[in-house]
Amino acid sequence: MKYLVSACLAGESCRYDGTHCADPLYVDMKNRGEALPVCPELLGGLGIPRSPCEIRNGRVISIDGDDRTEAFMKGAEHTVRLAREEGAVCAVLKNNSPSCGFGSVYDGTFTGKLVPGLGVAAEALSREGLFLFNDTGFTAAQTVRLRKIREKEYDRLVAVSTESFLSDSLTHSPCGAGGPEGFDSVEWHREASGRGRLLVITYNNELAGGLFVTLKPDKTGWINRIFVRSDLRGKGIGRRVFFLLEQKYSSIREWGLDTPDWAHHNQRFYESMGYKKTREIYSKEAGFYLVVLKKRCILPKGKLKS
Ligand code: SF4
Repeated sequence: MKYLVSACLAGESCRYDGTHCADPLYVDMKNRGEALPVCPELLGGLGIPRSPCEIRNGRVISIDGDDRTEAFMKGAEHTVRLAREEGAVCAVLKNNSPSCGFGSVYDGTFTGKLVPGLGVAAEALSREGLFLFNDTGFTAAQTVRLRKIREKEYDRLVAVSTESFLSDSLTHSPCGAGGPEGFDSVEWHREASGRGRLLVITYNNELAGGLFVTLKPDKTGWINRIFVRSDLRGKGIGRRVFFLLEQKYSSIREWGLDTPDWAHHNQRFYESMGYKKTREIYSKEAGFYLVVLKKRCILPKGKLKS
């Protein structure tokens, strides 16, 4: 099964107070057999009802002050085991939970305050190499598509590339406004589509960005370039694109890319999807170092990573 999904999202009454937070999207995925519902807290041996818990100083503490870390760890291990058995490549997880939270969790004060972070099961699944989404991110990015560029789209794609790189460099680069070779050139993009795969990213059927990748016979792939319109950032589009890319070219066993050493925001984003820094190289042309990151993809079901 391709997806794991937090069981409460799929309509199972497994929350601490015996309720659920069903979303029709995830209930449908479960009913169609696309998603396996899992509740790490129940898998860890906790019952219904149970005291709400939050993460504080690396421990999971109940509102009554009991330390529940062990049960949460056990539930996380069990969840990872199920993911392996099912050959799952992606998990859609309930926002903010001390088990399932991805991106943010409650801060341990039981006052409703959120801090950036991962729940215990989310962290374990991420280490395992699964693609993680929180429910709001996955829902928002549902209409993202990836397809080959059409002849009439070059001008529009280059306008998007130009806007995206200029806006990103103006915000983050110490070198001022600019972009990689050919970022504002129709000719460069036409030539690129001849030596690799130039793909268009659409969101709600509108052109939202582009992706240029090359695939090698040794089953490795290189992401030469990805860009998304600045007004569409923060909607989970980039994460969804990387997931779709791995699905589209599922024979690729390792993906690689590079990014400027000053682009810490990009590095954090890639690392959150399982990419790891492998080296730095100096680019004479650009005048700064590039950080190279790579990701080993999950093997098909039955061939688990050692
Ligand atoms: Fe939902 Fe996850 Fe909490 Fe279970 S542990 S109730 S699946 S958020």
